[in-house]
Amino acid sequence: MRSSLVPVSSPAGPRAVPRPTAPTGSAAASPESAGPLDVLGVPDLVNLDYAATAPCARVAADAVAELLPWYGSVHRGAGALSQRSTLAYERARQTVGDFLGTRADDEVIFTRNTTDALNLLARAVPAGTTVVTFGGEHHANLLPWPNTVRLPVPDSPAAAIRALSEALRELRRDTDRAAPILVTVTGASNVTGERWPVTELAAVAHRYGARIAVDAAQLAPHAPVDISESEIDYVAVSGHKLYAPFGTGVLAGRADWLDAAPPYLFGGGATLGVGTATNDVRWADGPGRHEAGTPNLLGAVALAAVCTALSEADRTELHTREQELLARLRTGLNALPGIVELRTFHADAPRVGIVSFVVAGRDSAEVAADLARGHGIGLRDGLFCAHPLARRLLAEAAARSGRSDLPPTALRASIGLGSTAAHVDRLLDALADLR
Ligand code: PMP
Repeated sequence: MRSSLVPVSSPAGPRAVPRPTAPTGSAAASPESAGPLDVLGVPDLVNLDYAATAPCARVAADAVAELLPWYGSVHRGAGALSQRSTLAYERARQTVGDFLGTRADDEVIFTRNTTDALNLLARAVPAGTTVVTFGGEHHANLLPWPNTVRLPVPDSPAAAIRALSEALRELRRDTDRAAPILVTVTGASNVTGERWPVTELAAVAHRYGARIAVDAAQLAPHAPVDISESEIDYVAVSGHKLYAPFGTGVLAGRADWLDAAPPYLFGGGATLGVGTATNDVRWADGPGRHEAGTPNLLGAVALAAVCTALSEADRTELHTREQELLARLRTGLNALPGIVELRTFHADAPRVGIVSFVVAGRDSAEVAADLARGHGIGLRDGLFCAHPLARRLLAEAAARSGRSDLPPTALRASIGLGSTAAHVDRLLDALADLR
């Protein structure tokens, strides 16, 4: 098996012949065949685990390789390397902000990942904020919040809108209009891929004087996210799910709460001045307030490169292609005896390229291991860091299918830019063999 920085596929479709290995020390393949949205990988392995961590986009690897000779301190040096690195970091912030549709007065803060971004926001909400969320969230959007009202998992997007509206009406009956409320929801579920009606939920939140944060960890890699157009107040994403695996995430949104909050981390870079007395500190405003310490320049630049490539791509075409692959996957899975899909909403509800399922009578961890060892297919098994939702959907799947032999954990296949029909078919064939 070759292990090298070669693109395994491009969105244009599968490649008949494996591409040559990239020159040592460079992620670049031959320029004439390079597609901006190629992803790197190992040709013989089928990666169906994009929802956990997407492969690296060629543009991300190239942007890092190009910057590396110039790598220097950000915001901390007068030398040419430092100047260039600082410029690259701030340009990356602008690019990522544009990609997410930020408003002129929003902040774009680089974090480690979505978990870090949501924890930052949880620390920044004004004292006494009530946070309203749904029980189907990823743990990263379920656990960080103080003072949370957790609404039951709805059975349709329309039910989610109704439930939020009722909950906020109740809350406003008991609190004055100025009391801060933050609604926080996922853009797309990491368990089912189902999309949540974030624009409509934002409108409901604002009607009741609440703000809304969207966990776009799974949505942003698959669909444009424009927070000014959707009137979303905060958005969180992870670089490693957006084809930029260099350890960066983002929290973007309204500056006022962020500037009024205590710094997320205390240290260099977050201050305007420090005196000798222990409490004599003037904290910076703006993104620097929450980015103390030397920032992750390469992560920011890699993420910005992907944002640029996606912004320049035909997202409608990418969407169509992904939906075709997803339909092939779901149709194939549903045709296999004993396979039951997990879902929260109706089977036809819009979703991104993620599908979770169980094989009746088979332990999911064992199936995942068989697929990996016997077929070179990588997917995820477990409860996907969304234990309440996954357990509930497993119980519903048992009731819907009438089977009493479903395992207690599930399997999840997820696709993205490098996925092909051949990958999907290999999984379906392997599952058919398993039976
Ligand atoms: N939210 C969702 C919907 C996710 O799928 C994930 C990752 N599985 C996270 C948040 C957390 O992302 P990260 O691990 O990058 O912090």
